[in-house]
Amino acid sequence: MGIELSTEESLGGLQGKTPTITTICSHSSLQIFHGARVEKFRTLGVAEGHPPRFYDAFPLAKPDEFLVLPKFSQIARHEKRLRESASVIVPTGSFVEYVGPAVFNQLRIPVFGNRRVMEWESDREKERIWLEGAGVAMPRKYRSIDEVDGPVIVKYYGAKGGRGFILAKDRKDLESVEIKGPHVIQQYVIGTRYYIHFFYSPLKESGYRVGHGSLELLGMDRRDEANIDELYKLGSQEKLLRSGIRPTFVVTGNVAVVLRESLLPQVFEIGERIIEKSIELFGGMVGPFCVEGIMTEELEFKVFEISTRIVAGTNLFIRGSPYSDMLAPELSTGRRIAQELRQAMDEERLTEVLS
Ligand code: AMP
Repeated sequence: MGIELSTEESLGGLQGKTPTITTICSHSSLQIFHGARVEKFRTLGVAEGHPPRFYDAFPLAKPDEFLVLPKFSQIARHEKRLRESASVIVPTGSFVEYVGPAVFNQLRIPVFGNRRVMEWESDREKERIWLEGAGVAMPRKYRSIDEVDGPVIVKYYGAKGGRGFILAKDRKDLESVEIKGPHVIQQYVIGTRYYIHFFYSPLKESGYRVGHGSLELLGMDRRDEANIDELYKLGSQEKLLRSGIRPTFVVTGNVAVVLRESLLPQVFEIGERIIEKSIELFGGMVGPFCVEGIMTEELEFKVFEISTRIVAGTNLFIRGSPYSDMLAPELSTGRRIAQELRQAMDEERLTEVLS
């Protein structure tokens, strides 16, 4: 028997019912609802203010029902209603951010995946303990400005939405900027970014075996980041700063990428180590996660971040990706979540995928 995330008792509301796949109307909701519908689940969209109109443009991805709240953070007041629908929440980055981590953690509604992963992901120190403990290469962390010996990126704690970063090309450059508030100084890795979409199934007993289950690669993307991605067209940083232009990393969209095939063993090994360490540290990560890093010209992948739930880059692959096509046809991450839930129901193993 594998990981136990939840108890039968805490899943009481689901007994004998078919779950309703529930998420908030943002981020990757179209894909989640579309995948759930293909796998014959009912769907519920949680909206703020009023039901968003854009679903009318995508009827195959429109939720069957809406729960409309004045504020997302009030979701806990509607637990009864969600339990009556046998809701299972599929968390997204937006879900956690809009509902708030404290409310999310306390919600007495089953959540797909292990909620405990959040404390390890949201704290950059703990994230480093997890990833370095797994033997994964990360950008070097400098304890003070005096140690800096190359280009760096300064990240404020809680930096959100791609703002709150400072780039400096060397120590002298860094000394000339004022850093306000708690931060980390990280080596700025030169290379190409890749965002790798994995799925860990604790239930599957075939494929690339990891832990008690199986690790799948469902896709890969790179994020378009305003304004850094195109700044080079305007010239060097000093000149830009003199003109009052500061680089930011606000995500505006995604593009599909594939890795050189010879690099796939390296990224699978990284995914495997991260899963194994997660089992040891907090009972394991379940379902989709994204390893975000930079491939250097020495062909070493340095991981700067992990997202422990479905990422919006998977929206590229509603009909499958070059990788998921080799697992099953038309397999999006949203659909894969629904399939995992279906298997857990059929095998009476919901406690292994819900928390
Ligand atoms: P993060 O909030 O850690 O996801 O970082 C936001 C963006 O900053 C990333 O998408 C990358 O473009 C860039 N970035 C973060 N860390 C590094 C690093 N150590 N080296 C180079 N670029 C980085």
